[in-house]
Amino acid sequence: MVIVTAAVAAGPLVRRSTNKRSTWLAIVFGIGLALVPSAVNLLQTSGLWKPTPHFAVLSRLDALGFALILFGVAMSLRAASRSGEELRKQNAVLQQEASTDYLTGLLNRRQVGLLLDYGAARARRSGDALGFIMIDLDHFKNVNDTWGHQAGDAVLVHVARLLQRRMRASDMIARYGGEEFLVVLSDPNPDGIVTIADDLRRLVEQNSAEFGGQSIPITASFGVSVSLVNTEEAVQESIGRADAALYAAKAMGRNRVVGWDQAFHEGDDAVRDHIKTADVASAPTFKIA
Ligand code: GH3
Ligand code: MG
Ligand code: MG
Repeated sequence: MVIVTAAVAAGPLVRRSTNKRSTWLAIVFGIGLALVPSAVNLLQTSGLWKPTPHFAVLSRLDALGFALILFGVAMSLRAASRSGEELRKQNAVLQQEASTDYLTGLLNRRQVGLLLDYGAARARRSGDALGFIMIDLDHFKNVNDTWGHQAGDAVLVHVARLLQRRMRASDMIARYGGEEFLVVLSDPNPDGIVTIADDLRRLVEQNSAEFGGQSIPITASFGVSVSLVNTEEAVQESIGRADAALYAAKAMGRNRVVGWDQAFHEGDDAVRDHIKTADVASAPTFKIA
């Protein structure tokens, strides 16, 4: 009875364990051994077999059988906990891969979108604004053409590290496109955000990337907006504004920071057209210094 209960209890464990065959073998063999004394007893009482003292050892095999059953159960438990742990690790890796950019390790566009949608729900309650800095490397195609694609990749990683070095852990930094980055500041000061963007601009300008013993000079252009992003549409509009300001920064000569208001009021016809097509003028905004 005890043996049958043990076997039934061990069943689900063995089913979850990864090395099923050896654990089943241990348990089944253990049950077999544990039953030997009872079988000998049965044969003896029914008069079918009279074991000589030589076979006395058979009546002690049950202890060995129970030990084997315990061993099998312990192996199953260990394997089950290991596979659970591996599954958790695999999930964490998958989650990490799905939310970050493989090259720079920054958040990817999809993940920053999800986080911003979540931020919009929070902003609806708190009335908080978010600051957006859209960054695009200048003439990056030239880097690839001159030093090769691998050097281009190294430049992207280098810029990502510079951004991480300057920004706070609470700010979001994403690789938004090929050579485009988006920084999102929570609790931004509309005047201070341009200073922060200009710090980043100087950091990029003053720190050439190193690749294969060569020094690769780089600059980047920056578009800035600060908005109350209390709806998902407002999130898109705010990013659109930073993007329109970035477009203006490129049009105004690159390696510079342009605020959304400045782009709106000082941009040339091409900038105005871009703003019109980006459809970004309706969400509540904050004047950028
Ligand atoms: P602009 O100043 O107007 O932004 O000029 P640009 O050359 O930076 O812009 P353009 O859009 O003409 O070229 C972007 C280049 O970025 C082209 C593309 O090959 C390169 N690029 C995009 N993603 C990657 C990447 O992951 N690795 C490398 N090495 N290059 C990339
Ligand atoms: Mg670009
Ligand atoms: Mg570029």
